[in-house]
Amino acid sequence: MRYTSTRDQRITKTSQQAIKQGISEEGGLFVLPHLMDYRIALQDLLGADYETIAQHVLMTLLPDFNTASLKKAIHLAYRQNFSDERITPIRNVGDFHVLELFHGPTSAFKDVGLQLLPQLMRLALDPEDRIMILAATSGDTGTAALQGFKNVPQTGISVFYPDHGVSPIQEQQMLTTTGRNTRVFPIAGNFDQAQSAVKALFTDTGFAARLQAEQVTLSAANSINIGRLIPQVVYYFAAYLQLVNSHAIQLGEPVNFTVPTGNFGDVLAGFYAKALGLPIHKLIAAANANREIADFLDTGIYDRNRPFLKTVAPSMDIQISSNLERLLYYKSGEDSAYVAMLMKDLAKTGRYRVRSDVLAAIQADFAGGFATDEQVAEAIATVWQQDGYLMDPHTAVGYSVMQQYRDTGDTTPNVLLATASPYKFPRAVTKALDLPISGDDFSLMTQLQQVSGVAIPANLARLATMTPQPKHVVAPAAMGAAILNAAKEVFDDDSRVRSGNNG
Ligand SMILES: *Cc1c(COP(=O)(O)O)cnc(C)c1O
Repeated sequence: MRYTSTRDQRITKTSQQAIKQGISEEGGLFVLPHLMDYRIALQDLLGADYETIAQHVLMTLLPDFNTASLKKAIHLAYRQNFSDERITPIRNVGDFHVLELFHGPTSAFKDVGLQLLPQLMRLALDPEDRIMILAATSGDTGTAALQGFKNVPQTGISVFYPDHGVSPIQEQQMLTTTGRNTRVFPIAGNFDQAQSAVKALFTDTGFAARLQAEQVTLSAANSINIGRLIPQVVYYFAAYLQLVNSHAIQLGEPVNFTVPTGNFGDVLAGFYAKALGLPIHKLIAAANANREIADFLDTGIYDRNRPFLKTVAPSMDIQISSNLERLLYYKSGEDSAYVAMLMKDLAKTGRYRVRSDVLAAIQADFAGGFATDEQVAEAIATVWQQDGYLMDPHTAVGYSVMQQYRDTGDTTPNVLLATASPYKFPRAVTKALDLPISGDDFSLMTQLQQVSGVAIPANLARLATMTPQPKHVVAPAAMGAAILNAAKEVFDDDSRVRSGNNG
């Protein structure tokens, strides 16, 4: 079984090649055809720990990796780096369940994918490979990718984030990450401009040639890389099995998952889980006021010709949900020519409309909705007052949309994915709870802890006293030059280190 491209089904790659390359040469995303033919036997996994569940999922979706190496990679990623031994624990809150995805080293769900991706990348590399990882980030990917890749041999990582477009805590996390091979660039633009520029560099042959002269190739740490997406499939299984093991549901009983959505990676991983046989009734994609994806799931029209809004859930301030392209591939009957046409429309006009049969197939599995900043604040306050549970603004977007969806009368049990620690966004949470706002985000963090009694994650508490590296804002047009420069520095350094070690 081989991976192919959403935009050209003549392309075939092993999963190792797909991970190493990140994105297909013509701009499509790598996908595994005939996803529905694979199955994970749930009854074999009752009582299994996270690493064992991960092993089953990864062996199924990444079949050309050596089994023993996969096992080791999973162990390296999850053994020590998460503060809860279940990795992604389920909590019962009121009449629903929360799947907490934020117990990794940077306190957001991106860690689940980005602790494992570098391990998979290492296994996929040949000894002579030198890979520069690019990541455009709306805040959380950047830090998680820097943490995951720092000092990984044969790799460098360049992260681009929108200047003034991430929270102060997120920025402090990125600017204080140390690693010989890590580079961080604020850009004069928003997330979509950063992501578009990164995608354009991947298909720019002139740029590739200049990197090649340095013996460097590019790869991606965004959720467009299947090596990041597939680790996220695991926690849907882990969540479901926890619910079965605690007798909250019966084995085989369907559940709904509500997923705070930006680039559509997290919720798409849920679709993969469903394809592999996990009993999921609906996947509910929750957008903030940048509601393109919610409108699409409603109407079949994707239209990004509207103002970009900055919201209290900045990691979801995204107008183009890249991973939707993969869903279009599956739901069009794996028709790469059709997907290529839609993506051309999107690039040219900022808009496309899918056929009605494609929309119907999507709506069989997905529902969508959105929440405004006011609804987010209300959700944070309500759940805190009713259930004593503190949500971050992204999770609160999910809560609000989950409640709107429940009003349609669907009584299936609900799992809400909690994508970040509330301490990552202390200002928005403090405002929502109507507590006094004074001082910087770190003093707000401390105040929140005093009110809630919930401990601040160690990585966030530490940040307050760290000195950030100086900021050098880069124009989107200058990103290529910045990457070339970074590649030279990182890999020159790399060979010096290596020859130093030898000598
Ligand atoms: C990235 C992110 C999201 C959105 O996830 P996608 O996979 O991009 O849809 C939601 N919440 C938080 C906290 C995030 O960091």
